[in-house]
Amino acid sequence: MPQIYDLHAHTTASDGTLTPTELVNHARDCGTQVLAITDHDSTAGVKEAMQASLTTGVKIVPGIEVSVSWAHQTIHVVGLHIDVSHAGLQEGLKKLHAFRLWRAEEIARRLTKAGITGSLEAARQYAGGTIISRTHFARFLVEQGYAKDIRHVFKKYLVRNKPGYVPGEWASLEEALGWIRDAGGMAVIAHPARYKLSATRLKQLLANFRELGGEGIEVVSGSHSKDDIARFSLLADQFGFYASRGSDFHGPENAYADPRTLPALPEACRPIWTHAAW
Ligand code: AMP
Ligand code: MN
Ligand code: MN
Ligand code: MN
Repeated sequence: MPQIYDLHAHTTASDGTLTPTELVNHARDCGTQVLAITDHDSTAGVKEAMQASLTTGVKIVPGIEVSVSWAHQTIHVVGLHIDVSHAGLQEGLKKLHAFRLWRAEEIARRLTKAGITGSLEAARQYAGGTIISRTHFARFLVEQGYAKDIRHVFKKYLVRNKPGYVPGEWASLEEALGWIRDAGGMAVIAHPARYKLSATRLKQLLANFRELGGEGIEVVSGSHSKDDIARFSLLADQFGFYASRGSDFHGPENAYADPRTLPALPEACRPIWTHAAW
């Protein structure tokens, strides 16, 4: 059976390039039947996506991708099937929005020092009134010719030890899982292969996540290789996690996360969608 679930995708409510309506239409064209809207630290795209689902027939799972600091690393936790109107969740997210605003100013200050001016205004424009992400700075830097594409621009300017990198604290794992749980959702570790953690540290993260009520892990992700899928399928089993599958789609120009070519979950996995009638 083709897999019809894509449980990780971004819209213009964070750093995606498609509006919620465009994303839902795109998902339908890709054969996705159940789509989670998981913008960074924001649920602002969910309402419009729900509207679009009425005409496309794509079922929407309201979600979020929360930025978390754990052991000096940034970890992303996806919350699925959340009540986006939950006051505690929205209150918690406000803290992350404030940090993003401060960080954007600080990124711009540091880029100015490195001789690059005008980045804050440009990033704000790219963000279009929603949360400001490093991706918005990256688009400006590419447009200005500082690197040939987003990937190279991140490497050169926006990661640790580079001129536009700003360290800081996101939510704690405990806070993020609390918000997701209180809003009635299930917490899933996003793209686990992307974290720079030793095998031991990774297991500590998974154990900590499980203790705090986390239930799932992305086994299939747009940024996972075949080996990553096999490895996290085993770890999901070891830790008793449900397996999730998400493209992490940010727009048609990011070919690495093409929902059409995203592999199916391995047979041995317990898909997260068997848990609930999504
Ligand atoms: P932020 O949450 O604002 O720090 O930005 C993180 C986002 O930047 C991620 O969700 C990705 O969309 C994007 N990103 C991070 N690292 C890279 C990279 N090396 N290449 C391309 N995009 C990246
Ligand atoms: Mn992103
Ligand atoms: Mn992520
Ligand atoms: Mn994502």
